[in-house]
Amino acid sequence: MAAKWTPDSWRAHKGIQMPAYRNAEALAAVEAQLGQFPPLVFAGEARNLKADLAKVAAGESFLLQGGDCAESFAEFHPNNIRDTFRVLLQMAVVLTFASKLPVVKVGRMAGQFAKPRSADTEVIDGVELPSYRGDNVNDIAFTAQGREPDPQRMVQAYNQSAATLNLLRAFSTGGYASLDRVHGWMLDFMGRSPWAAKFEQMADQIGQALDFMRACGLSAETVPQLGGTSFYTSHEALLLPFEQALTRQDSLTGDWYDTSAHMLWIGDRTRFEGSAHVEYLRGIGNPIGLKCGPSLEPDALLRLLDTLNPSREAGRITLITRYGHDKIEAGLPKLVRAVLREGHPVVWSCDPMHGNVIKAANGYKTRPFDRILAEVRGFFAVHRAEGSFGGGIHAEMTGQNVTECTGGAIAITDEGLADRYHTHCDPRLNAAQSLELAFLLAEMLNE
Ligand code: PEP
Ligand code: MN
Repeated sequence: MAAKWTPDSWRAHKGIQMPAYRNAEALAAVEAQLGQFPPLVFAGEARNLKADLAKVAAGESFLLQGGDCAESFAEFHPNNIRDTFRVLLQMAVVLTFASKLPVVKVGRMAGQFAKPRSADTEVIDGVELPSYRGDNVNDIAFTAQGREPDPQRMVQAYNQSAATLNLLRAFSTGGYASLDRVHGWMLDFMGRSPWAAKFEQMADQIGQALDFMRACGLSAETVPQLGGTSFYTSHEALLLPFEQALTRQDSLTGDWYDTSAHMLWIGDRTRFEGSAHVEYLRGIGNPIGLKCGPSLEPDALLRLLDTLNPSREAGRITLITRYGHDKIEAGLPKLVRAVLREGHPVVWSCDPMHGNVIKAANGYKTRPFDRILAEVRGFFAVHRAEGSFGGGIHAEMTGQNVTECTGGAIAITDEGLADRYHTHCDPRLNAAQSLELAFLLAEMLNE
């Protein structure tokens, strides 16, 4: 029998990857302030997402989760939010059109700030300072003051998340996401990609289908799904003082929810048994994700599933595998077999980003597009062979025309990385590469 869970019971567990705040009073003041702020999402919305994910677990829908590696205060701009949102819409339309499955859309947006790091400190030119841990913790600028964890940053992150979520809600239901506007989602700079032409063709076909439906009396007035969409938010639940402060008891059910996002996930570095992060997440009612990297053994995974989802509720758990293109086919089958054998209802999602980071000759951290694609292929091959449903994709991407991942149809070279390398953390697919991934994924779903 597990010990009693409370929103702060994680504090008695081993908590890694969190900052050591120097000023305990300032931290306590911010926690108290955040505790009084309105929730960003409602419990009922988190339950709706859980119900949508239960359909993915059953093989009846597909999950598309994507957005920045790390949101930043500097890149906070309505155009950035709009552009990432519309590339996600484009990807979802491509996937729906090809697979004929509904697509559950979840952004790594409106709260994806805190970052786990491989080392606590960073040395540049002989100077050692704390590592950058995301804009809700410290500043990316390499100065002693910048790298000092500042609890006030959590307030700014909350405010940015609230404004971002507000715009996403407006876009989702206010007309922007209407299927009538599918042509308008195309971004000008994507014109050179051969996939842009393919998207325009598909948009024409959707337009014809809508004209036909309208003639039959079906339109956005009668079929709300045509005029808007559901869009959910998610982030890694890493900075637990922040998550705890946003944890609220649902008045309808009495259950606790983390109201900072619809879905929260546990990172690959903090998912060990008995960790503070596992302890926190086991007690909230939201759907949760679990990153599964090569070091996760099947027995440990099954114990984690028993801890996080003892009642085996479908839609509760999404396993986000991130092996690397050269490890997935050897490593994933044993997890899939164990989960199938025990009958845990999970969503299997593929993160083809985090196992495929390399350093280019000129020092940039990058991810070659062909390796990303190879991991996605390996993911579907394993699930097909094991008789389970590969049900989702988890991507680090942006609607901007950045040059962070090499390859793709508009081939970005190692030298080209320097042109527009803007990420605050890991390299993201740009808009054209994201659309290309969606088309290639759609082909795989139809194989
Ligand atoms: C991430 O998703 O940005 C991340 C750090 O992933 P992982 O925990 O899988 O390394
Ligand atoms: Mn990342």
